[in-house]
Amino acid sequence: MTGQGNGQSVQKDGSAGVSRIALLGPPGAGKGTQASRLADRLGVPHISTGDLLRQVSEAGTPLGLQARPYMDAGELVPDQLVDELIRERVRRPDADSGFVLDGVPRTLQQAEMLDAAFSTLGRPLQRVVLLEVPPAQIVERTARRRALAHRPDDRADIVANRLRVYHAESTPLTEHYRSRGLLAPINGMGTADEVASRIEEAFP
Ligand code: ADP
Repeated sequence: MTGQGNGQSVQKDGSAGVSRIALLGPPGAGKGTQASRLADRLGVPHISTGDLLRQVSEAGTPLGLQARPYMDAGELVPDQLVDELIRERVRRPDADSGFVLDGVPRTLQQAEMLDAAFSTLGRPLQRVVLLEVPPAQIVERTARRRALAHRPDDRADIVANRLRVYHAESTPLTEHYRSRGLLAPINGMGTADEVASRIEEAFP
């Protein structure tokens, strides 16, 4: 029994490792990069709601068409759509060994929604990484990303809206996980390699 199939992953040293993780942090904190690196290292899928929503929106599925106007405005898409998206995604077999969530939960309601969905599956979240980056740094990073202009919602006013939405929602969300002993704050300043090493120390 390797632990495959019961939702546990077994690390190289034989200890049962943490394999169901969510990454929280403001837009531009480097969540996507770090979530992808962490997922690769743990051998589990990287599940980004932003990426999934962009895919369904480009594909023009009913869910994608409903989500699109919210995304274009930098507003949160309705919880029920996110719930549907995540439930479908974590049921795929590649998520049996765990997953790294990126971009979800974004609100306390979403956290409660995930708690319900994952407890039905018998696979609760094990750790929640909070990438901490000061607001001034965020503004600088998103401005740099905007210069590369690969996403329509990286326009200045829309980024500002995404940041406002983040700050309004983040305190109750982080408290939810802090009070359950799941929160792992990580300093998100510095290069991607530096941040990745800090995460690696926390999740060997
Ligand atoms: P960022 O974190 O930089 O804002 P994302 O790629 O995570 O970018 O998200 C892009 C957009 O997709 C958000 O502005 C929002 O409209 C939508 N979105 C992504 N994840 C969620 C979620 N969990 N709940 C609601 N909306 C979401």
